[in-house]
Amino acid sequence: MPRTFEIGHIRITPLLDGDLDAALDKVPDPVDRAAATELIAQAGGDKALTMDCHAFLLHLPNGPVLIDAGTGTMMHSRLGHLHKRLAETGVKHADIRAVYLTHVHKDHFGGLVDDAGVAMFPNAEIVLHEVEADFWFDTQPENMPERARGTLHMNDKAFRPYLDRIRRVPEGGGEAGIAARLAPGHTPGHTAWVIETGAEPIIAWGDVVHLAALHLVRPQTAMIYDLDPKTAGETRKAMLEWVVSNGAIVAAAHMDHPGIGRLRRDPDRYSFVPLS
Ligand SMILES: [Zn+2]
Repeated sequence: MPRTFEIGHIRITPLLDGDLDAALDKVPDPVDRAAATELIAQAGGDKALTMDCHAFLLHLPNGPVLIDAGTGTMMHSRLGHLHKRLAETGVKHADIRAVYLTHVHKDHFGGLVDDAGVAMFPNAEIVLHEVEADFWFDTQPENMPERARGTLHMNDKAFRPYLDRIRRVPEGGGEAGIAARLAPGHTPGHTAWVIETGAEPIIAWGDVVHLAALHLVRPQTAMIYDLDPKTAGETRKAMLEWVVSNGAIVAAAHMDHPGIGRLRRDPDRYSFVPLS
């Protein structure tokens, strides 16, 4: 049974979809790669290269919503457990009224559909930042980086049954208490969703951090997971600082389960302190 956390008047349940392996050859710069290799070794080696994959369930008075939707059947067999986790909470798929996407990558949208392409959330609207929607849905493929172009067939499968209920929101948009905040670099419209709680805000920041052992120490280390690594590094640095300065609670897609906690600023790094 997934654990639910209460923060102010908000109840949030991290849903663990599974895990996936990162690799240090995804750090293109040789100097950065050497530093990364050392940090990963200090943090326990291979296990520091495994990224948990979370979506988050928000229990709101006007009905439950998800932030991201897991991988569904679009990746490998260690992933795709979101639907089981959701069922364990007692919330029905048909009750989910909205899915807020942090960005359009298959480990975040794959679970929108089953293997046959049928919508898993028959009554949900899909909410995403207009910058992200413009990039993935309105850009000619020949104007996209190669890496982005390669996944378009999966976007097509996942979003097809939702085409008449995709809501594109501007910066700050969402709904009462949930606001889009552009966090670009990983994708052009990569979005952190800021959730008001009446206490500390929660920031569901998607893929701002991939490898905690690396990025909490060297935020600007580029990895090729990011479409624009330089911008992603600047976003990461700014976002880490914002979280600490605002005492915010992070809900992170790829940090260790439960993926929800605070950040502490130490002399040489940020440290993630999971909520207990
Ligand atoms: Zn991701």
